[in-house]
Amino acid sequence: MQNIQKTDKDIYAAILAEQKRQSEGMELIASENYQSAAVLEAQASVFANKYSEGFPGRRYYWGQENTDTIEQLAIERAKEVFHADHANVQALSGAAANLCVYSALMEPGDTVLGMDLTHGGHLTHGAPVTFFSKIFNFIRYKTTAEGKIDFDQVRALARQHKPKIILAGFSAYPRELDYKKFVEIANEVWAIAFADVSHIWWFIAAWLLKNPLDYGFHVMMTTTHKSLRGPRGALILSKGIVSNPLKKPEDTIENIPTRIDRAVFPGMQWWPHMNTIAAIAVALHEVQTPAFKTYTQQALKNAQVVATELIAHGYKLVTWWTENHMVIIDFTGTGIDGSVAESTLDKIGISTSKSTIPDDPNPPFRPSGLRIGLPAMTTRGVKETDTKKIVEFIDHALKNKDDEEALSELRNKVREFCKDFPVPGV
Ligand SMILES: *Cc1c(COP(=O)(O)O)cnc(C)c1O
Repeated sequence: MQNIQKTDKDIYAAILAEQKRQSEGMELIASENYQSAAVLEAQASVFANKYSEGFPGRRYYWGQENTDTIEQLAIERAKEVFHADHANVQALSGAAANLCVYSALMEPGDTVLGMDLTHGGHLTHGAPVTFFSKIFNFIRYKTTAEGKIDFDQVRALARQHKPKIILAGFSAYPRELDYKKFVEIANEVWAIAFADVSHIWWFIAAWLLKNPLDYGFHVMMTTTHKSLRGPRGALILSKGIVSNPLKKPEDTIENIPTRIDRAVFPGMQWWPHMNTIAAIAVALHEVQTPAFKTYTQQALKNAQVVATELIAHGYKLVTWWTENHMVIIDFTGTGIDGSVAESTLDKIGISTSKSTIPDDPNPPFRPSGLRIGLPAMTTRGVKETDTKKIVEFIDHALKNKDDEEALSELRNKVREFCKDFPVPGV
């Protein structure tokens, strides 16, 4: 950063401070991770200088021989990793990608059947505060008392509301999904089965969780930061399948890829960020290495250690287990809530995120749950025994939440612990 150091002291100082914050703290927010040095280099490359509206081989400006190369590589790698027939790599983020999918496959007023937000669904799956919820009609299914998806309810709602899209996916749900059941229901009501796998796609890429596209899903979206350790962007993946959920003869299923490309450009977004696309290609290349598979397996082990240890320390968990990288603590009846836990842990240098629990009795800004994720700390090299220590830190802090002295002692211990696990790229 010699150049920033010379030209802009203020931003340089802020970058150094952020490096220090990231290095001395423990990142347990389930959606966060560290980009590799190679990904950061691609993002800072000269591709940032180029306007490239259109798609490889079909651009509006000249000078695209190299942008075509990187976008084509990103597309091919994405298709290979996810068993997709088509990949669009231009969406600027997961939220924008979901909007592109909705607008590609629906008309205003059409219905999406998605997971209830307090049961783990995402804001972009139709939260009433979003603009999308004014354009489309969102209906929500829930989980059962054991925290599993209630397929009887999904089927009943699908029959009643005839959604155009049935959406499977979540940002706070620690279990595998039964994709086959979703597809059966979607086929029954002529809906498109759409999976938002932003949180779990890395387990899918490493074959530790099922790939919705292998079970008949038509469309799948994932962010490329989070567990992918790439730049902030998204992939929209689709399959060319035989059935025709759109029912109109001119809308064969083969048109889903075309509709998606058109919805991204020129429908919703215009100029792709080519430096981001270069970095997506680099990240996907890293995903195809054996080291990535080892990383994913370790993250799953670490998450399961967190679950076991928290239960051993007397905590209640949503679904009492995890099959992915996240664990959700349910604090109901304990006298604390997710936001108290979050701010207590922040005092000792541990970042987590408050989370709703199914049918949360508390309001969203003070929900009853806390979500803990292991992607970032696994990238920094923590193994099972280190993970046990992390749970000790969490437990001590929560049990001494009003004892400032104990918390400041714990802050020092967390700082010491973090020294053994450097942040990549710092
Ligand atoms: C993070 C997330 C998104 C939104 O992605 P952004 O890139 O943050 O806009 C969408 N869906 C799910 C399930 C997510 O977890």
